[in-house]
Amino acid sequence: MIVDLRSDTVTRPTEAMRQAMIMAEVGDDVYGEDPSVIALERRVAELLGHQAGLFCATGSLANLLGVRLLVEPGQEVVCDVEAHIARAEMGAHGALGGLTMRTFPSDRGRIDVAEVAKIISPSAGPYLVSTAAVAVENTHNFGGGTVQSLDQLQAVSELCRDHGLGLHLDGARLWNAHVATGTPLIDYGRLCDTVSVCFSKGLGAPVGSVLVADADRIERARVLRKRLGAGWRQAGVLAAAALHALDHHVDRLADDHAAARTFAEAVAENVPEAVDPDAVETNIVIIDTGDRPAGPIAAAAAAQGVRVSVLGARMLRAVTHLDVDAASCAAAGKIIGTLLAVPTSAP
Ligand SMILES: *Cc1c(COP(=O)(O)O)cnc(C)c1O
Repeated sequence: MIVDLRSDTVTRPTEAMRQAMIMAEVGDDVYGEDPSVIALERRVAELLGHQAGLFCATGSLANLLGVRLLVEPGQEVVCDVEAHIARAEMGAHGALGGLTMRTFPSDRGRIDVAEVAKIISPSAGPYLVSTAAVAVENTHNFGGGTVQSLDQLQAVSELCRDHGLGLHLDGARLWNAHVATGTPLIDYGRLCDTVSVCFSKGLGAPVGSVLVADADRIERARVLRKRLGAGWRQAGVLAAAALHALDHHVDRLADDHAAARTFAEAVAENVPEAVDPDAVETNIVIIDTGDRPAGPIAAAAAAQGVRVSVLGARMLRAVTHLDVDAASCAAAGKIIGTLLAVPTSAP
């Protein structure tokens, strides 16, 4: 038995998705002539209440472009200390976008408008870096699949508008937030100037993200994307996978959320201090390994067919997805829980 819970990116396209890819109508997307890409961009823009969309190879690229549209070189974006854009995008925003970043603290990634208000520095004059945008993440990856409160997002959106700041939403897993809360996607979308969403996570497509914004901004993003060497041609074969995922893989995210909880309960049965199943909001479970280093626990689990990510010295992450079911998640949780329950050193 192999249960791969390292990430929801490990899914392989289903037979039906592969069929949709084979049948996709395609054209040259750099010429703006790929009907499947155009259909996907329009559909996602509409879902999020924006004018236009841009299909990108990765979420990192969609975030890079989304933030760059709001922040000029030499200005700053502010985000929380665990943000994917700050930690997991290889410094792209600074290295390629020419901007700086400051971070504010958060509780498991949960955004608090008071912290944002404290840190922003709009129109800072000739001595300090001016804040041009705020970036938020929903659900929050390193926070453990945390869903942002709509009230806080609304408050942050108002704060940004009051101060003339842009607001970018890293919505790689916005689908999960939508399914977990029932909040319509458009209610999230209309609070923000730019939004990125991923198809290669819980939605199970092999590749792809879409950035949405107003039409002028997306036109600029198209130029910036090409400048980065990331224009692509018959990308419709990939857009078809994303369209298929929108039709078939959104509602079922509820199964992933239930499986994550099942996994957490199985871990907690042996080691209640390692994880609180009630804190599992979506498809990500963060496990606190206590006084045990996380690396050897992950290695021992892998030897028994359970793969999880090491996220910190004492922190493991498990992510449920399309290719694992509740029963295997329960079995995996039991294996992790049993490993954690073994005393550190034999008497
Ligand atoms: C996965 C992820 C991304 C994008 O990652 P890519 O690997 O570049 O597609 C962006 N933000 C968050 C929160 C993510 O989890």
